[in-house]
Amino acid sequence: MSISGKASAAFTEAYGDEPTGLWAAPGRVNLIGEHTDYNDGFVLPFALPQRTVAAVAPSPDGTWSVCSTLAPEPVTFGVTEPGEVTGWGAYVAGVVWALRDAGFEPPAVRIALASDVPLGAGLSSSAALESAVLTALIDLGGLDVPLERRPAIAQRAENLYVGAPTGILDQSASIRCEAGQALFLDCRSYAIEQIPFDLAAAGLAILVINSNAPHQHVDGEYGARRKSCEESAAILGVPALRDIDVTGLAAALERLGDEVLRKRTRHIVTENQRVLDTVALLRAGSVREIGPLLTASHTSMRDDFEITVAQVDVAVETALAAGAYGARMTGGGFGGCVLALVDDDRAEATADAVASAYAERGFDAPTSWVAVAGPGAARLNRL
Ligand code: ADP
Ligand code: MG
Repeated sequence: MSISGKASAAFTEAYGDEPTGLWAAPGRVNLIGEHTDYNDGFVLPFALPQRTVAAVAPSPDGTWSVCSTLAPEPVTFGVTEPGEVTGWGAYVAGVVWALRDAGFEPPAVRIALASDVPLGAGLSSSAALESAVLTALIDLGGLDVPLERRPAIAQRAENLYVGAPTGILDQSASIRCEAGQALFLDCRSYAIEQIPFDLAAAGLAILVINSNAPHQHVDGEYGARRKSCEESAAILGVPALRDIDVTGLAAALERLGDEVLRKRTRHIVTENQRVLDTVALLRAGSVREIGPLLTASHTSMRDDFEITVAQVDVAVETALAAGAYGARMTGGGFGGCVLALVDDDRAEATADAVASAYAERGFDAPTSWVAVAGPGAARLNRL
C-alpha cells in the first residue's frame, strides 16, 4: 500500500470516518553544508522521494488528536504550552503551539500519520512530520503564512516544544525544496535559490547509503559542537562563524588558542566555501566536478568536526574505491547516511561493494537507494 493509503487507512481505523485531505512533506539529504546552518552559513539540501503523509479532518470538539502507524492510539490535547505534551506527540503539539505563538489560529483537527522516511537516520523524519502537519493546518485554516516564514515556525516547534536545538536546514528543505532542484539556502537571510539538479541527464546518480549504525551521544555531541562554534565566534568578535571567510581563516585560527576550537572553526569556514563552490559548479552544469568537494567535506567532518563513525567512514572509502566521483556523510553525524556521486550504471555495484565491506567488518547491513530530488511539502490531490 502507498504511504498515503496507509495514512488514510490509519485515520479511518483510529477515528472511524474518512480524512478530508492528505498532506505530504519529504525527508531530505543535504548535498553539502554540514553544521553550517546554526552558524548562519550555507546549505544545499534536496528533498527525498520518501515522505511523511498526514491524513487530516476537522475535529468536532476543539481539540487536536494525532496518531501514527507507529503509534496507533491517538494522543489528544487542547491548547498547550511546551512541556505539556511529551513523547512523539510533542512534534504535533509543538507545531500547533508555534503557529499560535506566531499569531495564527490553527484549526482543531484529527491527524493520522504514515511515513517511509527512516526515523533517526539523519534524513529528517522529524521535519517531514512537522512540515506535513504545519502545511495541513495552514491550508485547512486558510492561514496567511508566507512560505518563507514557515520553516522557522516548524523549527520553533522542534527547538522550544520538543526541546531539540536543531538549525533551520531540515524544515527549510522539507518545506521549500522543489522537484529536480537542490535548495541553496542562506541560513542568515533565509534567501533561497533553486539550483537545477538533474543528475540523470548527466548520466549520474546520488546513491544514499543508510549506515544503519546505532546513534550514540547524538544530542550531547551536537550541543557541544554548537557551543564550540559560538565560543569561537565570540572570541573572534563576530556574530557567527559565517562572518569568517576562507581568506580570513588563517588569521582567525591564530587568534583561537584552543586546538579543538581551531578544528571546529576550520570545518565551518571551509564547509561554507565548499557549498558556494558546489553551487557555482552546478550553475555551470559541471555536476561530476562537485565530487572532490563532497569528499573534502567528509574529510573535514571526520578530522576537524569529528562527527563521523567507523560505519560512515567505511561507506565513503568503499564508494570512492568503487569509482564514486565523491562521497560524504550527510546529516548531523554519529551514524546516519552517506551519499555518493556515481555514474548511474554504477549505483548498484557501489551499493554492493559497501554491503560487502560492512559484512567483512561485522557491521549491521546498510540500506542503499538512488535518490532523485522530489517536491517539498504540499497537499496531495487525491485521497
Ligand atoms: P530524524 O529527524 O533524523 O529522523 P529525529 O530524532 O530528529 O531523527 O526525529 C525522529 C523522531 O521523530 C522519532 O523518534 C519520533 O519521535 C518522531 N517521528 C518521526 N516520524 C514519525 C512518525 N511517522 N510517527 C511518529 N513519530 C515520528
Ligand atoms: Mg530530526
